[in-house]
Amino acid sequence: MFEKVLIANRGEIALRIQRACREMGIRTLAVHSTADESAMHVRLADESICIGPPAAQDSYLNISAILTAAAISNADAIHPGYGFLSENANFATMVEEHGFTFIGPKPEHITLMGDKIAAKKAVMKAGIPVVPGSDGAVNDIDEALLIAADIGYPVLIKATAGGGGRGMKLANTAEELPNAIKMAQIESEAAFGNGEVYLEKFLSKPRHIEIQVMADNFNNVVHLGERDCSLQRRHQKVLEEAPSPALNDDTRRKIGEIAAEAVKQIGYRSAGTIEFLYENGEFYFIEMNTRLQVEHPITEMITGLDIVRDMIRIAAGAPLGYTQEDIRFTGHAIECRINAEHPETFIPSPGTIGLYHAPGGLGVRVDSGLYSGYTVPPHYDSMVAKLIVHGTNRNECLMRLRRALSEYVIDGIDTSIPLHKNLMSEVDFINGDYNIHWLENFVKIND
Ligand code: ADP
Repeated sequence: MFEKVLIANRGEIALRIQRACREMGIRTLAVHSTADESAMHVRLADESICIGPPAAQDSYLNISAILTAAAISNADAIHPGYGFLSENANFATMVEEHGFTFIGPKPEHITLMGDKIAAKKAVMKAGIPVVPGSDGAVNDIDEALLIAADIGYPVLIKATAGGGGRGMKLANTAEELPNAIKMAQIESEAAFGNGEVYLEKFLSKPRHIEIQVMADNFNNVVHLGERDCSLQRRHQKVLEEAPSPALNDDTRRKIGEIAAEAVKQIGYRSAGTIEFLYENGEFYFIEMNTRLQVEHPITEMITGLDIVRDMIRIAAGAPLGYTQEDIRFTGHAIECRINAEHPETFIPSPGTIGLYHAPGGLGVRVDSGLYSGYTVPPHYDSMVAKLIVHGTNRNECLMRLRRALSEYVIDGIDTSIPLHKNLMSEVDFINGDYNIHWLENFVKIND
């Protein structure tokens, strides 16, 4: 097993990985920017090294600074968390070339799934249903018009290198298509340095349902069920739940088996997530995330597994240690993402925390680096906490979540807690009756 792990991330996920390491008796090395000197992930680590100024480009994305930190402190392995360098195949390759272990998938799979067109082709071959769309990139407007007419409007233009919902544009008619393509190309060129786009049928009221998979180096693969991440704003997840209120056991088992089988065929290793849109009883693949997800805790709550510990064990060469038959789903879990932003205007709200009190009690888990007196820096993602609640069924989970939200005190900055509180009394949400557009409308109505 590793003796020391460098955690190439910050905030709640850096703490989450530290916790797994500490339980396993592994020393932790935090890296941080000058803006994060007093961050909890730095304060609780066994060792820490400053790797640069606040801008992520100069610190958390600075590959040579991170590798140097690993070398001078004799780390064995690097966990990238999510975001930052987690889906950078070049980083994963360099980590291995410098003699460290990358706690994650093989670089070739990061590359494959990072190219959305190649990913779609690969999973289709492995038996996964995909959204109808262009076979590959679309280059000229005439070709795009022909393909769109064939798929049927509305069509979605998506970036091959896409992520975070950027480079995505909707065309309702043939008239709108040329401009939508141009906009998507410009946006994805600016965001990813790659303006290549493709077309997909726009599904009008799907749910976003994703399957968690775990695989080791010996081609043992399991799925850990689904997460319903349909409550989104601007294509960003706001609240996730497991299991999905929309699936029955039979459907759940079938899609889980399809996902696990595809992952096996591809030869994938580590934790991964296969994302689908689900409409009228059909699943359509949209992408595979080759990393730990923000919402992994809800899967941990209903399976009792420690996904981060298993990623570390797998990276160290251990076998998975359990089979599909060993996995039991128990109860219901919901995660609320708590952002430092105004709950109605969504304007970011960095600043200094006054009183901080996290909820507790049976079935309540808070993953966060916040504490009284901490200053949320303005340089990074606005998500500052995850409130995760487990109950024996969905109803108990909701009752507990309402109670936990009412206990949560974060003074000094605006947070999205009031938005979550409002959601809890919405009939559609209580009934589990929502799709990927529902929250966007809810937010508008409440403007
Ligand atoms: P990104 O990598 O940018 O996050 P995804 O392909 O994962 O892009 O899609 C993000 C979100 O965009 C989905 O969760 C869904 O809300 C919406 N979306 C993506 N593809 C479609 C589609 N074909 N029809 C309708 N909505 C879509």
